[in-house]
Amino acid sequence: MNAEVQTQGPAWDLSTEYTSVEDSQLLADIAAMDELLNEVALLNPGLDTPHGVEKAQQIAKLSEQAGTLLSNISTFAHCLLSVDSQHDGAQKLNGQLQAYRKRFGDLFEPLSQFVDAASDEVVAQYLDDPEVSPSAFLVHHGRERRHENLSLSEESLVNGLSQDGIHAWGNLYDQLSGTLQCEVLVGNATQSMGVAQASGLLNSADDHQRKAAWQGINNAWEAQDEACAAGLNAMVGWRLEMCNQRSRHKPVHFLDAPVHMNRISRGTLDTLLEAAFQAKPLAQKAAKLQARAYGKEGFGPWDLRAPAPTIEQVQAPSIEFDEAIDLIARAYGEVDASMEKFVRMMVANNWIEGTVGPRKTPGAYCTGFAKSRTPRIYMTYTGGQSDVITLAHELGHALHSWVMRDLPESQRSYGMSLAETASTFGETLVRDTLLAQSSSKQERLDILWEEMSAFTAFLLNIPARYEFERKFYEARAARPLRPQEMKDLMSEAWRSWYGDSLAEPDPMFWASKLHFYISGLSFYNFPYLFGYLFSLGVYSQRDAFGDQFYQKYVALLRDTGRMSAEDLAQTHLGVALDKPDFWQATIDSLSSRVSAFEAILEEVGR
Ligand SMILES: [Zn+2]
Repeated sequence: MNAEVQTQGPAWDLSTEYTSVEDSQLLADIAAMDELLNEVALLNPGLDTPHGVEKAQQIAKLSEQAGTLLSNISTFAHCLLSVDSQHDGAQKLNGQLQAYRKRFGDLFEPLSQFVDAASDEVVAQYLDDPEVSPSAFLVHHGRERRHENLSLSEESLVNGLSQDGIHAWGNLYDQLSGTLQCEVLVGNATQSMGVAQASGLLNSADDHQRKAAWQGINNAWEAQDEACAAGLNAMVGWRLEMCNQRSRHKPVHFLDAPVHMNRISRGTLDTLLEAAFQAKPLAQKAAKLQARAYGKEGFGPWDLRAPAPTIEQVQAPSIEFDEAIDLIARAYGEVDASMEKFVRMMVANNWIEGTVGPRKTPGAYCTGFAKSRTPRIYMTYTGGQSDVITLAHELGHALHSWVMRDLPESQRSYGMSLAETASTFGETLVRDTLLAQSSSKQERLDILWEEMSAFTAFLLNIPARYEFERKFYEARAARPLRPQEMKDLMSEAWRSWYGDSLAEPDPMFWASKLHFYISGLSFYNFPYLFGYLFSLGVYSQRDAFGDQFYQKYVALLRDTGRMSAEDLAQTHLGVALDKPDFWQATIDSLSSRVSAFEAILEEVGR
């Protein structure tokens, strides 16, 4: 046993919701949800009658009530499993909830089809109810793509076949990546390990270790290249065929769905990528500086997650949880006193889980209980600088949901493109504070290094993924691609974005990156770039708006669930996202950070 007391955070309190999986309130909530779903089953046939609108309104209200209960119980089960991944009761509860989720999907599908198929007039009637009207944005947004709808029977046929079609390919990939064994040289001996474990070695401070891990991972995927190529060709082929089928009224492009899901326009997407293209020299400069810090001309693809080089052999002092909260609260408080109060309230209410435990799931997240509208933060806090940043990030998510807590349920969810606005904002605030007060060069280097790693990941790696995916779709329209062609396409995309800042491309990246194989989503890349630049853009408006900033910031966050990203930016910041100026200004604000990084490298003689 380690005699030293390990730094850790507090345990969270979930008892405000339920005390255990046997809590009578939990059982009552399940029974109530069941009852509500039975009511929906009885109402559904009425949608095809002259009273359809009334029935639809009733179903919408029941959907909200039942959804709140399902979400509350799911969150509870998820929280229990995070702290104890072996929790037997929570496992069983989760299995039970899975069946409910399926039932939800089946029972509420008729309503969504009703709303999609209805005339504008009928939709206006449907929304003319104080409890249904708050969903106006969601309803209208959803109807933007209704020209793509097939007949009801065709839709259900596609849905049925997709389980063993596109989704099966996604499952195959998950199974492959879960069972694949990599041979990795560790020290002097070759070890056999899973992809996740090998991937962890890519964070190693040791050059050789990272390269060996990368090679081990790539060799393993190389042996599966035909299977991966077959999977990706099939998934993308499926989506392209669906675009064809859905083009009966108006041509449907493969980017329509991902862009719509992120509540942005094609114009905004193109402007965003163009801004990234313009920022390439700055991002490449940052990447080259990082390589220089390691005494290299250019990084290898195995270096992208390398930690800052060690320049001082001093043990960074551990930051106690209370200290971290104090630091974050003060940094948040610089924007507005209520932001500081919020951070302290999160601690006082025991809404943060930060203990160290053997059965805890790795990672960090922010979640919330739908009934009480209260957030919870999950992480394992061990006192490192990066833990403080993670805490600041998750507190940003918590603040986002907190300022929206009084809104109708239908206005409280937002697309991925806006989801990281408050978290990246909070992270940047605290990073700046840490930087200002750090006493050692190593601490400053660590902070700036992390910033540069994020900058190059978002501005070079993400666009390279996007370019590969886009070109792959275009080529796949003619015929499936061979594995070698996919390697070439990926290498080309890497070269075009990284230029000479990288010693060599990562040709197997199309196989090793899970994001390309998520069957329910496509282009799981540009939303990251959007979110990163958008939140930094909001952050950089602080000075411009002065005293008015906080008010504007909260108003912006509150509208994230009921506006497109373009309307949001226009309304609250007065900027047009489909024009280059906002993005350009945001990127310009990053150049001083690259200079600060260059300066510290000079200082430490790297
Ligand atoms: Zn986040």
